[in-house]
Amino acid sequence: MAKPRTLAGAFAFIVAAACAPMALLMEAPDKQLRDPENKPEVEAQGARVLLLGVDGLRADIFREELEAGHLSGFEKLLGGRDDDGGMPHAYLHPKAIAPYPSVTAVGWSTIATGKSPAEHGVTGNEMLLRPSGRFVAPVPMSVDDHADVLATFNDQLFGKLLKVPTVWQRLHEKGLTSWVATNHVHVGADRLLLPGRDDLLQGVVQTLMGHMGLSDGDEAAYSELDDGTFSTVLDALKADEVPPDVLMVYASGTDLLAHHESAPELEAQRRYLREQLNRRAGQLAAYLENHGTWYVIITADHGHTDVLADETHALGAAEEDSPGFRVLREAGFKPHPPSLGHLKGLDDAVFAHQSGAAFVYLADRSKCDEDRCPWSSPPRYEEEVLVAADAFHEARSKGGPMEESLAMVLIREPVPFEEVDHPFEVYLGDGKTMSVGAYLAQHPEHSGPAFAQRLQRLAVGPSGERAGDVLLIARTDPKKPENRYYFGQKYEATHGAALASDSMVPFVLSHPKLTQAQLGGLVKEMAGDVLFLHEVAPIIEKLATSPRLAFDAP
Ligand SMILES: [Zn+2]
Repeated sequence: MAKPRTLAGAFAFIVAAACAPMALLMEAPDKQLRDPENKPEVEAQGARVLLLGVDGLRADIFREELEAGHLSGFEKLLGGRDDDGGMPHAYLHPKAIAPYPSVTAVGWSTIATGKSPAEHGVTGNEMLLRPSGRFVAPVPMSVDDHADVLATFNDQLFGKLLKVPTVWQRLHEKGLTSWVATNHVHVGADRLLLPGRDDLLQGVVQTLMGHMGLSDGDEAAYSELDDGTFSTVLDALKADEVPPDVLMVYASGTDLLAHHESAPELEAQRRYLREQLNRRAGQLAAYLENHGTWYVIITADHGHTDVLADETHALGAAEEDSPGFRVLREAGFKPHPPSLGHLKGLDDAVFAHQSGAAFVYLADRSKCDEDRCPWSSPPRYEEEVLVAADAFHEARSKGGPMEESLAMVLIREPVPFEEVDHPFEVYLGDGKTMSVGAYLAQHPEHSGPAFAQRLQRLAVGPSGERAGDVLLIARTDPKKPENRYYFGQKYEATHGAALASDSMVPFVLSHPKLTQAQLGGLVKEMAGDVLFLHEVAPIIEKLATSPRLAFDAP
């Protein structure tokens, strides 16, 4: 089916292509995921926790807007200001870092499970699952097929992709209830709250087209989606006598608008935060104020960086004619055209785009028969991995087609899928590699906050093979947008790189009756001087299960 170029076209495309899932999607904005009577016999003891997840919100933008006094609604949610202008009941962590690659599916999976990508299994917005050989794209970057977006909300796709329980499942085992509003990773929650059906339909289209780079900066549609989420949450809270122990509310306009509105220095995100989300935060604060005492956590899955929206910088814009596809073809591989589902035919290489990076999966070509290459076993090191690595190394060298755009080629020796995978190493040509840490020490221009550590967490673990056999890292420059490249469609801003602007996220903890020092102590005890997003779930669990404080007594 041809790719729709307008929102109306996209809408018709979705309805035409997916009537059955759409019928499910339209059922109700509020899904009871678990029988409320089926609750373990444990008394809930903890304080209540609100997690406000704001997609793509950059740490510095949130801090600056808060300090400038532009976010009165957020201030109220975080316990207000004192006479000196300080926020006595909120602790803002100075250094919170997203997992790598800094993209949506990885960020929320890490927040919701408390594990690293190589452990929980969601390594990218798009991935090849092995041994089954199925390509999935819950947040499409190269595939113009929305089926996995719908499966995320209709069929708990993330419940199938994740190899470990979510914090929502663990809370349930402890007798605590949780509701999740609109976020992808809701498996285990008691309720999934969704915006009203029309808003959701439009929101799904926007999210899909947003990451496909096809829509324009439709601020009204993004804010309608977030408004729908907040309204459904407030309606549910007001209708139910007992609020959940943990409530997660998710907003995405901050990410979508930044991707599509041409505005230097993320001005679009700044404005959306001030003018749209701030109002909603204030409404949530007004409810919470009169309904007990809540811990409030605000965080994000990744940051954002502005880029140039043209085919030179968008390395996925030309699809099968993109430079990466051409390099693989010239090296003798048959790269798979982007599509969802089980791979068929003699294609022996697969790309998964993550904007700042791309995963390349290779098949053992000695096992291809007349009709199909198998994905049930890993490729061979010399015959596939090194052949592809040499081709990309050549392409990024002087005079090569990716000289400007490709920063690093990372590889590792494949192991059987059930084993723990090796870390990636930087490929230097002639079969030689160097550890990522040593290479970044020599080439600090390619580094970023805790980059080597985050690469380790992506690669080494039971699901590390989902990060591919060859990892391509796009060249990016913290200062000059003209020197930033990305594996994706054309965007005005994007993320997924090791850059600080893509990687640093806000993390705030507040409680109306605790001091900033007490809250800071609590966070530091759990996470130390650097907070990684896999440390958020243990913090939520600890807060929700700690003995109810005296002032929380009913
Ligand atoms: Zn995004």
